[in-house]
Amino acid sequence: MAEGDRKRTQEVTHRPGSGGELSGRTVLIVDDDPAHVAHVREGLAPRGYHFREAHDGPQALSAIRESRPDLILMDVEMPGLGGVEVCRIIKANSGEDGFGFIPVILMTARQAAGKVEGLELGADDYLVKPFDMLELSARVKSMLRLKVLQDTLVEKNRELDKANKELARRREELLALSRTDALTGLFNRRCFEERLTEEFARSRRYQSPLSLVMLDIDHFKRINDTFGHPFGDQVLKAVAQTARTRLREVDVLARYGGEEFIALLPETGPADALKVCERVREAIAALGVEHVSVEGKRQEVRLTASLGVATVPSADLNSAEALLRAADAGLYAAKGAGRNRVRQHVP
Ligand code: GH3
Ligand code: MG
Ligand code: MG
Ligand code: MG
Repeated sequence: MAEGDRKRTQEVTHRPGSGGELSGRTVLIVDDDPAHVAHVREGLAPRGYHFREAHDGPQALSAIRESRPDLILMDVEMPGLGGVEVCRIIKANSGEDGFGFIPVILMTARQAAGKVEGLELGADDYLVKPFDMLELSARVKSMLRLKVLQDTLVEKNRELDKANKELARRREELLALSRTDALTGLFNRRCFEERLTEEFARSRRYQSPLSLVMLDIDHFKRINDTFGHPFGDQVLKAVAQTARTRLREVDVLARYGGEEFIALLPETGPADALKVCERVREAIAALGVEHVSVEGKRQEVRLTASLGVATVPSADLNSAEALLRAADAGLYAAKGAGRNRVRQHVP
């Protein structure tokens, strides 16, 4: 802003008066006639508002940018950028990123024709010069009230928005928790069953292959009995991690029960499913989970797992339950055949 502008738009505070909750609000008076500005200011002085002045359109826009007034009283007839044009600019920038809502009262020497134009262009009220000071005071007061209400509304909206976002975030968190197994961080059984229903329906609709794997740690009871339950928990976490890293992102891995895991492999036929199972089995057999005894003795504990796998579409598997049972039967067969192996359902 030019030095001259700064002087002419400097802030002038009048003594606090009977403005109540509205005192201290900023009123920008825009008029090319300094005598008229002084006249308006005098009329409003007892209300305790802060005043700013501008004497043409560009100055008015600078003052708005600088001080965000709560109300603008603006002359229509000014050389250059007139009041109606300035009003149009203000209203076009009333978004949250712009000036926000600032009520504008246009002041004109003209009668009726200008009035319609001004109101149509978004002025909030209109005064025809010369006007009665009591009327001016009353209009200013009611516009400022409107501004206060609007500000409160915007603030409340912002708070509501924030609260809503927080709520959505918490809901997401809760949802994630309700789907997660606390020990391993994998999906839990309930979530798995939901996904199975979905994936089974999808596989049936598109005739796309879907494989289901059941995995059970071999002789897990012994691990618990030998090294204690907390170490058993550590082993479960290690197995979960190992299996997860051997699967694709789209594969759904869940803890199905105590030391039983289950996986859904979408778009995976029997041959690939078998390869995946072998890969997981080998990785678990290669795993060494370190146990440290109370005496500080370190030991690598080795373990194995058995797996059963089944794939749809398959003539004899026409439900998700049947697919699950077939994989479970495979797991049972793997245990029976000596553990640390994979058994596949054959239609
Ligand atoms: P198999 O090779 O036939 O599967 O033998 P297993 O010993 O693994 O099978 P079994 O079903 O007899 O034992 C499973 C054990 O898993 C029994 C139970 O105490 C233990 N278990 C179940 N849930 C947890 C858990 O969250 N943490 C720990 N540490 N152990 C668990
Ligand atoms: Mg004028
Ligand atoms: Mg078991
Ligand atoms: Mg077991």
